[in-house]
Amino acid sequence: MPQANRQIVLDQLPQGKLAADHFRLIEGEIPQPAEGEALIRTRYVSLDAANRAWMQGATYRSALDAGQVMAGGALGEVVDSRDPSLKPGDLVWGDVGWQEYASLPARRLSKLPAMEPLTHLLSVYGVAGLTAYFGLLECGRPKPGETVVVSAAAGAVGSIVGQIAKIRGCRAIGIAGGEEKGRWLTDELGFDAAVDYKAGDFKKRLREAVPNGIDVYFDNVGGAVFEACLFGMNTFGRIACCGAVSQYDQAAPQHGPRGVPGLIVTKRLSVRGFIVSDFADRNDQALADLQSWVQSGQLKVQEDVIDGLENLPSALVGLLAGENRGKRMVKV
Ligand code: NDP
Repeated sequence: MPQANRQIVLDQLPQGKLAADHFRLIEGEIPQPAEGEALIRTRYVSLDAANRAWMQGATYRSALDAGQVMAGGALGEVVDSRDPSLKPGDLVWGDVGWQEYASLPARRLSKLPAMEPLTHLLSVYGVAGLTAYFGLLECGRPKPGETVVVSAAAGAVGSIVGQIAKIRGCRAIGIAGGEEKGRWLTDELGFDAAVDYKAGDFKKRLREAVPNGIDVYFDNVGGAVFEACLFGMNTFGRIACCGAVSQYDQAAPQHGPRGVPGLIVTKRLSVRGFIVSDFADRNDQALADLQSWVQSGQLKVQEDVIDGLENLPSALVGLLAGENRGKRMVKV
């Protein structure tokens, strides 16, 4: 085993846009596990837009402080254990952080099955797949023939949302940045249409893409895109509020979309926020469905794997700028 533990520290909290030089690479010690803990060797770190939101303040987890090892979900392998529930070789998921080794309480780690490729445990069978599944089916409640619109459609969650909408007999429209992502959504993933929110006349093009209005909007981005979709909603439509990536990469979230109270009332909309762990007691059913769709070829999995712990900062900055297609992660 190596002597040093390479770690990436969040050196300063960003006041505006996040940059790679807000982080610093250091070498720490490999921590010995205490009673009830396991020593984990990191294999893949998940890159999430929410990593940036944690720097703005407390969310569903406490806020990050300057000087701490950057937090983040990761897939790791147990190398030593002082808890009877885990043994060397076990694969686990937890908030391991941006480092090669961490000792964590076994109760904060979830054991994962071995599978090929391992990366699917972070994408379709991980947070992204479960978020898409529960957010769409439980909060969006789409019916066959309805129109489902999803933003950040070429990202980890959105690319799965649109495909599940198609599997459920809906019309799927993806909103994503750039023509190339749009073509990929329609030509490779089977979306019915894609709308580039970065090009001019976005609202007009969105209206044209949804001639029968929007029944379900799966919101990954908030802000102006949320606002445009809100105006296109049909009466009794459902909005699944999953995240607000357009609001993360700044000192604090800006004001929300205009028209929220009035339109929600007059259109009788149901708007539901959720965190994927709300549905954890039904993960087995979700995973069984996701697995059968992947095996039948109805659900395509897109992953964006970058090599090397030292590349984590630029990988996160790039994700916020829309570099990724599908689930971005870093192999350590
Ligand atoms: P990804 O990390 O895969 O992709 C993020 C994408 O967002 C980028 O590729 C970019 O694509 C797009 N984006 C960036 N800035 C903007 C902007 N200003 N306006 C519109 N789009 C933008 O995303 P995930 O699929 O992992 O996450 C999607 C959302 O789901 C996030 O808000 C995240 O926080 C949330 N989430 C919520 C969970 C929950 O339990 N509620 C769990 C997991 C994720 P483009 O080129 O299209 O701009």
